[in-house]
Amino acid sequence: MSDISRVGRRKFLVTAGVAATGSVLLKGCLGNPPSSTAPTGGAPAPGPVAAGDAPEVTTAKLGYLPIVESAPLIIAKEKGFFAKYGMTGVEVAKQANWASARDNVAIGSAGGGIDGGQWQMPMPHLISEGIITNGKKVPMYVLAQLITQGNGIAVSNAHAGKGLGLDISKAADYIKGYPASQGRKFKAAFTFPNGNQDFWIRYWFAAGGVDPDKDIELLTVPPSETVQGMRTGSMDAFSTGDPWPYRIVADKIGFLPALTYQIWAGHPEEYLAMRADWVDAHPKATKAILKAVMEAQQWADKPENRAELVQICSARNYFNISPAILTGPFEGRYSLGDGKPDINDFKAGPLYWTDSKGSVSYPYKSHDLWFLTESLRWGFHKDKLKDFDTVKRLVDSVNREDLWREAAKEAGFSDIPSSTSRGVETFFDGVKFDPANPEAYLKSLKIKRV
Ligand code: CA
Repeated sequence: MSDISRVGRRKFLVTAGVAATGSVLLKGCLGNPPSSTAPTGGAPAPGPVAAGDAPEVTTAKLGYLPIVESAPLIIAKEKGFFAKYGMTGVEVAKQANWASARDNVAIGSAGGGIDGGQWQMPMPHLISEGIITNGKKVPMYVLAQLITQGNGIAVSNAHAGKGLGLDISKAADYIKGYPASQGRKFKAAFTFPNGNQDFWIRYWFAAGGVDPDKDIELLTVPPSETVQGMRTGSMDAFSTGDPWPYRIVADKIGFLPALTYQIWAGHPEEYLAMRADWVDAHPKATKAILKAVMEAQQWADKPENRAELVQICSARNYFNISPAILTGPFEGRYSLGDGKPDINDFKAGPLYWTDSKGSVSYPYKSHDLWFLTESLRWGFHKDKLKDFDTVKRLVDSVNREDLWREAAKEAGFSDIPSSTSRGVETFFDGVKFDPANPEAYLKSLKIKRV
């Protein structure tokens, strides 16, 4: 960790501390579940917390970023689902950016950081191996998927009418010719390297014949700076989560050549993961958190709850944006711009519990494997991620789909998948990923670093 990021983190923690006064007070109740959840007399326990299932602690600190991926954590808190399962003191703490979330989980809540929260993939795996934490291994467990879809690629209006759509093969020469015509490479950004947004934009470029490492310049840039760059013409494309893509079109800064649901319908997106030491010490509290998040996901997927979801998430203490910006994506309404037909399909937007492929919440090992296969494809962390044996061992040590299953069964939820693999996945360009043979997928790709 650099000195600068240390200062940044302290500053953030001081700010967050003010908002967190309420949960600091709650720490006095640590270990005492509220009496309302205790069983009465000799009768079976009423309510969701059965006798013997009371969580070991009632507090946990979960980090989130103000994008639609975090909604299940916010809803579990605000609609009382954490409390319903005995976790009365869960704090959901806004993180300044992905690097802060990473630094805070490496510290842990005992040191003023966080116990876990929302992650791009494969951050939990990389943190577990010390790959993005300066060699410090902080074992983590992936517990649930928070969301599918709800992400997209935005392109500056300067490139309207150039044929940039889902398939960019016809615009490939235009993009590759940028150094000759503009004196610089075509610039594309994401907010954190080697994670979801990086993978989506790389997949999209490569599928159209544009090599993301050679033909363009890929950069890590905060959302606000990317949008500013797109306004001034210094930035060309941006891979990000709702509500940013929607905003870029609404503010007439750019258009959306591709939503991630078009690239890969029902794709894995962001996840709930926590420090392994926290989970190992608090298995019942972990399952209580999981049940609460699952119930929040079910709540969030009901169309009749989406207006309230918008109100809660857009509020000052969470996303701090106009509710109007969130309404479109949460209804599956996207204006793509650049003469492309509008999308108006609830199933095209963010989904939290079920999608066309089945469970959203269940953390399929086959999806962890895809993210790490894609890491191999692009040569990320080459010294640590050497081969499929390493990758598969890492998936088995980090993915705790078993805890998800136990929690879902205990809570009486249906929609429990029968396999840790969702089976063969098909992308928009016809490429297939068979989790039973990821080597064949790598072999089939034309643009790669292996
Ligand atoms: Ca995302």
